[in-house]
Amino acid sequence: MNSESDYAMLIDGKRVATGQGTCGVTNPATGEEIARVPDCSDEQLDEAIAAARAAFPAWSALDLNERRARLVAFAEAILAQTAPLARLLTQEQGKPLHEAEREVMGCAGWLKGVCALDLPEEVNEDNETRLSVTQRVPLGVVGAIVPWNFPLLLAMFKIGPALVTGNTMVLKPSPFTPLTTLRMAELSRGILPDGVLNVICGEDRLGPAMTAHPGVDKISFTGSTATGRRVMGSSAATLKRVTLELGGNDAAIVLPDADVERIAPDLFWAAFRNNGQICIATKRLYVHRSVYARLKEALVAYAGTVRLGDGTEQGVGLGPLNNKPQFDRVRDLLEDSRAQGHSFLFEAAGDVPANGYFVPVTLIDNPPEEARIVQEEQFGPVLPILVYEDVEEAIARANASEYGLGCSIWGTDEEAAAAVAARIQSGTVWINETQYLSPFASFGGWKQSGVGTEGGREGLVEYTVPRTIVRRRASA
Ligand code: NAD
Repeated sequence: MNSESDYAMLIDGKRVATGQGTCGVTNPATGEEIARVPDCSDEQLDEAIAAARAAFPAWSALDLNERRARLVAFAEAILAQTAPLARLLTQEQGKPLHEAEREVMGCAGWLKGVCALDLPEEVNEDNETRLSVTQRVPLGVVGAIVPWNFPLLLAMFKIGPALVTGNTMVLKPSPFTPLTTLRMAELSRGILPDGVLNVICGEDRLGPAMTAHPGVDKISFTGSTATGRRVMGSSAATLKRVTLELGGNDAAIVLPDADVERIAPDLFWAAFRNNGQICIATKRLYVHRSVYARLKEALVAYAGTVRLGDGTEQGVGLGPLNNKPQFDRVRDLLEDSRAQGHSFLFEAAGDVPANGYFVPVTLIDNPPEEARIVQEEQFGPVLPILVYEDVEEAIARANASEYGLGCSIWGTDEEAAAAVAARIQSGTVWINETQYLSPFASFGGWKQSGVGTEGGREGLVEYTVPRTIVRRRASA
């Protein structure tokens, strides 16, 4: 089948509406197919990479301020389309409309933020004998691979720093959520030079074809740890640079002096926003025994106020899970918990569309530490709440994970909380909040949560190679 799709890939500045076939995209709230997108062929992948390579010399030679001006104009074009982009995002991803709007605006804001960053050359030595400086120069063509939980924002985490430093890009969204990204890419036409940003989409074979392709200089990947390992393995053959933003099993530690009634809503959203489908969602909640009963009660009461439903409806706080495999995974974890006899504190009931991928919000009361729901990344609306006796034990349990992405510490005494934070093995530790990310701060994972960082100066460095120029003084 080679039919034309409403949704087009962007290759060398042109809309490309046909591929080697098409792939369907499902609305997770209804289970219905809402669109078909082109399935990028191997030849089209070659064309996209060739276009990015051809665009690289001129784009990287542009004055930094000119690149910034174009990227800020792209951000403005995205902002101007917030409403339609957000609606489409809700339809393909499932998140409520207000969250989708926040993602679209966040994506544009991130791009503007990145444009304020700089990588000035560093002087290593400056004396009578010689001048040695290190410049940061772009790598070339970046292959970006993005998951389905925050399709636009996570794409922008890559587009911003890669393009502002002078690289060009071929970006692939998840097959579950290509639509908003394709629309966003179209907005760059006429703002970015042809070939600077190419967006392709297709079935599962496309990611491995990108990581194996000799025309790609670097892979920037966000997704699961299992896939991250495959990406790194495949990239090794051509010695591509990689940035891997992978899974997490973030702990939150509630200290004995925490004002639990006040923080309960924050903790609820830390775990359940976007249905827990956030790499840095709180996935294990450790609560000191002295405040455990009160926090449990406050969380259950708050959970009862949140409406589950189709994200396009007014008043809905949580939509469906994004896709069938994830729906099945989360239900499997729930069945395991049930079979193990765990105590379920709260399960949201209510009217939800019959064919959507809805899973009730579930709080599990102090399951054993070795339970799958504690040890595995659930990436869904299920939270184990765990009792601890002393802070040393809580720190040890939080750190006893193969992951090390994020963690949050909650308490009234900020210094005591900061002392706990300083002992946590994760890329980010928040105190009395969580999930705050900024284009000005590095964000990345320890252990199995990733390699490299996004955000901040270090995030820019990831898209460059150092070039040291050593000049011997004529007078020396
Ligand atoms: P996934 O690993 O299944 O897929 C991610 C992307 O990789 C998709 O675009 C997919 O098509 C592509 N892909 C699949 N197989 C590939 C291969 N062999 N080679 C190259 N690309 C391939 O992840 P997902 O289910 O889409 O996303 C959920 C996971 O992402 C969770 O584990 C979550 O924690 C993680 N995540 C991490 C971050 C972070 O910043 N650390 C952010 C969001 C999500």
